[in-house]
Amino acid sequence: MKILLLGAGFGGLELSSALSEEFGDELDITLIDRSAGFVFGFSKLDVMFGRTTAEAVFHPYVDAVKPGVRFVQTTIRSIDPTTRSVTTDDGDFAADIMVIALGAEVDPGATPGLIEGGHEFYSNAGAFALRDVLADFPGGHVMIGVTSTPFKCPPAPSETALLVHDLLATRGLLDTSTVSLVMPLGAPIPPSPDASAALLEAFAERGIAWHPGTLITALDPTRRVAITADGEELAYDLFLGVPKHQVPEVVAESGLCVDGWIPVDPHTLETEHAGVYAIGDVTSVGTPKAGVFTEGQAVVVADRIIAAVRGRQETMTYDGAAACYLEFGEDEVARVDIVFAAGEPPHGSMAGPDAALVADKFEFGARRIRRWFGREWRQF
Ligand SMILES: Cc1cc2nc3c(=O)[nH]c(=O)nc-3n(C[C@H](O)[C@H](O)[C@H](O)COP(=O)(O)OP(=O)(O)OC[C@H]3O[C@@H](n4cnc5c(N)ncnc54)[C@H](O)[C@@H]3O)c2cc1C
Repeated sequence: MKILLLGAGFGGLELSSALSEEFGDELDITLIDRSAGFVFGFSKLDVMFGRTTAEAVFHPYVDAVKPGVRFVQTTIRSIDPTTRSVTTDDGDFAADIMVIALGAEVDPGATPGLIEGGHEFYSNAGAFALRDVLADFPGGHVMIGVTSTPFKCPPAPSETALLVHDLLATRGLLDTSTVSLVMPLGAPIPPSPDASAALLEAFAERGIAWHPGTLITALDPTRRVAITADGEELAYDLFLGVPKHQVPEVVAESGLCVDGWIPVDPHTLETEHAGVYAIGDVTSVGTPKAGVFTEGQAVVVADRIIAAVRGRQETMTYDGAAACYLEFGEDEVARVDIVFAAGEPPHGSMAGPDAALVADKFEFGARRIRRWFGREWRQF
């Protein structure tokens, strides 16, 4: 049986590892990605705030050899879900089962003035370039603003606000600086009242201004003001933005999307096409766009593929549960456990923040690099 995995991000890496672990050389698995390597979403913040380097957080695919898995670095140009096939810059590929894990891309150009008057921290290039901008910032008002929903890792803007505050404190700039966080959500992490309350307390303690229910629609670079959906103008000196998200162009052109994202069965991750699954940020499955949710979906799809190959019953359906780590600044991390089960209101709880969870978060990343790439990771 042939398996085609499109995208070697959080989803593709977990799925290829799970299938290789089960089948070894028994199965013909092709994993395609245009990138030369993987970077965790949270590593963007580590580089941006000068804790580590871009080289240290980049995990090259080239030497990660998994039995049964052929990695092909190429760009996918078209997807045909009816024949479970793709065309790429390096030829055509077809399979019995195809899994689309191509993620979400950001489009800073969709927000007028963002490229000219601000910075985005959601792409690797954007976040890595901010390292020098933040290191050279002379002080003033730093605004973290969200320009569109949905967006990846909903806690990331809150984490960024706290880490900006830390950086300003370390650089001795707090007397001449302020930080504000402008978000369309009504709470920092709506499904977890504990985490939201702790974040709001942390913002209040540090004097970080919190603007809930507010979407930034444009920047005026000459006057350095951010314009909200209600037409209000908010002045800033340094704007760090979360840009508009969308599926990669090849997915948009595949005919698979409804309202911009691929709809899937929330329990099985099946698309409407036989033998075609979609997982992670590219879908509208109903969970936040975060790697930990994508990973849970990959585990369920692996179970279904194993069941199909072994001729047995599937043992799992997707439960929408995940735990993610949340940077609180001042060398503390919290852990938020959240469940987004289909048909139920989402709910969650929080542990920490404390210094012990810093080591847990470190091990979270190290464990995955060991599993996916077979190597140890020196993160800092
Ligand atoms: C600042 C920030 C912080 C974050 N922090 C966290 C966190 O702490 N925890 C967490 O769980 N998540 C976090 N995330 C979110 C996380 O990074 C994503 O949700 C996760 O990577 C999604 O996994 P995925 O497999 O769906 O897509 P991705 O990991 O994005 O993988 C998609 C892959 O598809 C490839 N691709 C796309 N188009 C093509 C094409 N045409 N041809 C070939 N290849 C293609 C891409 O190169 C990419 O490797 C964060 C994100 C950001 C921006």
